[in-house]
Amino acid sequence: MKRLVLLGASGSIGTQTIDIVLQHPDLFELVSFGVGKNIQKAEDYLQTFPSISIFSVEKEEDAEQLRKKYPNKTILSGEEGMEEIVKKQDYDLLVNALVGFAGFLPTLAAIQSGHDVALANKETLVCGGELIYQALKENHCQLYPIDSEHSAIWQSLRGNKIEQVKRLLITCSGGAFRKKSREELKDATVEEALAHPNWSMGAKITIDSATLMNKGFEVIEAHWLFHMPYEKIRVLMHPESVVHSAVEYVDHSIIAQLGAPDMRLPIQYALTYPDRYDYVLDTPLDLAKLGSLHFDDPDTTRFPLLALAFEAGKKGGNLNAVMNAANEVANAAFRNHEIPFLKIEEIVISAVHHAPFKEIECVQDVIDADRWGREYACQLVKGEHA
Ligand code: MG
Repeated sequence: MKRLVLLGASGSIGTQTIDIVLQHPDLFELVSFGVGKNIQKAEDYLQTFPSISIFSVEKEEDAEQLRKKYPNKTILSGEEGMEEIVKKQDYDLLVNALVGFAGFLPTLAAIQSGHDVALANKETLVCGGELIYQALKENHCQLYPIDSEHSAIWQSLRGNKIEQVKRLLITCSGGAFRKKSREELKDATVEEALAHPNWSMGAKITIDSATLMNKGFEVIEAHWLFHMPYEKIRVLMHPESVVHSAVEYVDHSIIAQLGAPDMRLPIQYALTYPDRYDYVLDTPLDLAKLGSLHFDDPDTTRFPLLALAFEAGKKGGNLNAVMNAANEVANAAFRNHEIPFLKIEEIVISAVHHAPFKEIECVQDVIDADRWGREYACQLVKGEHA
């Protein structure tokens, strides 16, 4: 039995993780979870997993209400609540399915208290990759990727030597706007941006897929996960989202992982590694039915945030956390109809190019960079209204 703690339990990755746990009750036990504002989901999980005695919600007032209803449970709240769960609980693996910078400190706290982490929260590595890797080394812990591209690379690396890798090939569907011109992107609406052609995901990441910021973050995530220099990471457009990513070796042999675009597959692999188990899938990949696959180079003139991520990644320091913070603010402002689509990239690029450079040496440096990026981006969002 693997004992799991799940953060971000009511979101897209969180609910799909619950699907996996329920498909394999002999393999997994959910010992605790954290949700945001979705209190109904928390109550559902208590019904499904009655042995859970401690969990966390975002708001203290929600926790107070729940304590009256469930007097035998320990119900925590806020950032401290999540931290307490990941530090104290007796468990084997944290599944971090939080969205955004909120995922960074819980990942670090889990590792520092000696736990392995299955990571869906790419912002953890974008913002504080160096600190996470230092903590992994010091505490002898493992990080298992849930992101489909990184799961594919991880699988394609098995049985081979990392020093014999020529480069990583990260595939990219192109998101909702892969066929739109710059002119068309000016008037792109929130509804259009949320209509991802292949993947069903949360709102924030679907917008990040439409701007290709998500792919940029994945490049940085791959850099940290596989210790790969940016010169050895190539992004390949691949509209079918069937080749989830690949590894090219020094002999030019390319090994890829293919599958249906269903996040439950990489989630399950991260939870069962190094083993594979049955998974009930409605529409498994049938290559004969699919017929053909397409690949192309990305157009960074149409989608400059991908080029920005390479630039920020190579420069390093605080710029990645600044980029992430500015993007979180701009992404949310676009979803709230406060700014047009192309203003997202303008804000994020401006933040990275105006941030005073600083090396990341401690957790406070990451928090400061995040705050700087948020404040800077908020100013530019407000400027849009003026
Ligand atoms: Mg991905």
